[in-house]
Amino acid sequence: ARKFFIGGNWKCNGTLEEVKKIVSMLNEAEIPSENVVEVFVSPPFVFLPLVESLLRPDFQVAAQNCWVRKGGAFTGEISAEMLVNLGIPCVILGHSERRSLLNESDEFVGDKVAYALSVGLKVIACIGETLQQRESGSTMAVVAAQTKAIAEKVSNWANVVLAYEPVWAIGTGKVATPGQAQEVHLELRKWLHDSVGAEVAATTRIIYGGSVNGANCRELAAQPDIDGFLVGGASLKVACLLSLMKRH
Ligand code: 13P
Repeated sequence: ARKFFIGGNWKCNGTLEEVKKIVSMLNEAEIPSENVVEVFVSPPFVFLPLVESLLRPDFQVAAQNCWVRKGGAFTGEISAEMLVNLGIPCVILGHSERRSLLNESDEFVGDKVAYALSVGLKVIACIGETLQQRESGSTMAVVAAQTKAIAEKVSNWANVVLAYEPVWAIGTGKVATPGQAQEVHLELRKWLHDSVGAEVAATTRIIYGGSVNGANCRELAAQPDIDGFLVGGASLKVACLLSLMKRH
């Protein structure tokens, strides 16, 4: 069985005081054991070492990005090696905000995923279509192309979690219906089956992101191919994140 996975993506939010407060509330929370659910929080880079040192050991931290190859003369970037050096186990790559605002292409994201895996990081690889792409009927073609660009560069999927995040559902309050999300997750699993292999298709977690909160998570989590969530806004409200963990 695929272990349920809940990631909180804090994006570019939070002050030192707020971060400390969220972490202490998470540390006190009673949630299902780590055998049932895997929990990650992803603070901005500058807070990573602090969160890593304060956070309870059954939760993990993830960076929100890293450089595409080995570090060097790349001003402003953070290398995958640095994350490993700090004991950060995981990184989110290919978030739609980076794809659209910073022009990260499918190929660039594929390279990043492969490099991060090669140094031993776990990767939450994000894919998803825009509203225009959905309305023109190209949802599956878009997410398949994004996944293909990753699959072409990656041979071992054991440390990859795929996050399906329809762009139109991110930060908009317009969550995909359980049926819409399940449909894409199932298609993605079929794609993995046909293009990568049966074992990878059966074991890779495909999580959903886009306006997930404590109120809508239960129905989404009940879908057979939804293996967890990547939560943005609601992950900053601890009560919301906790209700998500308890209810899935
Ligand atoms: P929201 O939960 O705020 O819609 O953000 C989702 C997201 O982008 C998580 O990576």
